[in-house]
Amino acid sequence: MGWAVALHGGAGDIPLSLPPERRQPREEALRRCLQIGVEALKSKMPPLDVVELVVRELENCPHFNAGRGSVLTTKGTVEMEASIMEGNTKKCGAVSGLNTVVNAISLARLVMEKTPHIYLAFDGAEEFAKEQGVETIDSSHFITAENIERLEQAREANRVQIDYTQPVQKIDAKKETPMANGDSQLGTVGCVAVDSHGNLASATSTGGLVNKMVGRIGDTPLIGAGTYANELCAVSATGKGESIIRGTVARDVAALMEFKGLSLEEAAKCVVDERTPKGTVGLVAVSAKGEIAISYNTTGMFRACASEDGYSDIAIWSSGLN
Ligand code: ASP
Repeated sequence: MGWAVALHGGAGDIPLSLPPERRQPREEALRRCLQIGVEALKSKMPPLDVVELVVRELENCPHFNAGRGSVLTTKGTVEMEASIMEGNTKKCGAVSGLNTVVNAISLARLVMEKTPHIYLAFDGAEEFAKEQGVETIDSSHFITAENIERLEQAREANRVQIDYTQPVQKIDAKKETPMANGDSQLGTVGCVAVDSHGNLASATSTGGLVNKMVGRIGDTPLIGAGTYANELCAVSATGKGESIIRGTVARDVAALMEFKGLSLEEAAKCVVDERTPKGTVGLVAVSAKGEIAISYNTTGMFRACASEDGYSDIAIWSSGLN
């Protein structure tokens, strides 16, 4: 038993030729956020606080698709969403449809702690944010030039989500996932952590998919899909939300451990390799014993992890960067 932390900055069809200007800032952010998580766990911060802290940092980084770097809807607006869950208590909170809240993950935590509910969305969530005095800012803050360009590219190419039955799809209709150029839909962020007593927590935050319909809700705020934690493990997923929801990805990892006695590694591998369409899903997970599982069936996943026994890794594709 020992502490462990794992975080991700999105999974997808990340080209090996990803230009340095897109790669380096994300690698640096992963390294910095991993360090923050490690220091926090070493200083005995509870895992719930650790995952919130790390995800806030990732949300504040414009290179990821969450918070400041959120991708845009068909109408050029942002609709951020997030969820957080504590393993032992199974307390959880979720938010969707935010356009002024600087850190969606902290609002999700407030929903968990200050309301009788689990999930608030759109106007109600924004109103609650104001009541709670969380930091808000004009929504133009979240609309980066890079994301305007991504939206334009997606519109031009009619890169839309096939599930929404848009009439024209300049994508390979045989593939389930119309992941765009390997960069445009990347960057949902998440973090899982366990302390040396086996207390677990998970948090995930996103802007969703580029060119998503206004009002579309993905897996990220859905407990059991994008985020889950119980007394055995904590899981944060990323990828095509519609596939993750259908596969109840995060909960299935926990269920395979709970009902079939699989190890964390086996459970994560089973869900990603056998239970979800290829090219759609990635996840990070930790177990109460301090094990780490990283699994994806996409080309790559931005991620970083470390554990008390001295293991540490930061990677995008199958080999580490450090
Ligand atoms: N899962 C997110 C969504 O579908 C996107 C991502 O992970 O990049 O909203």
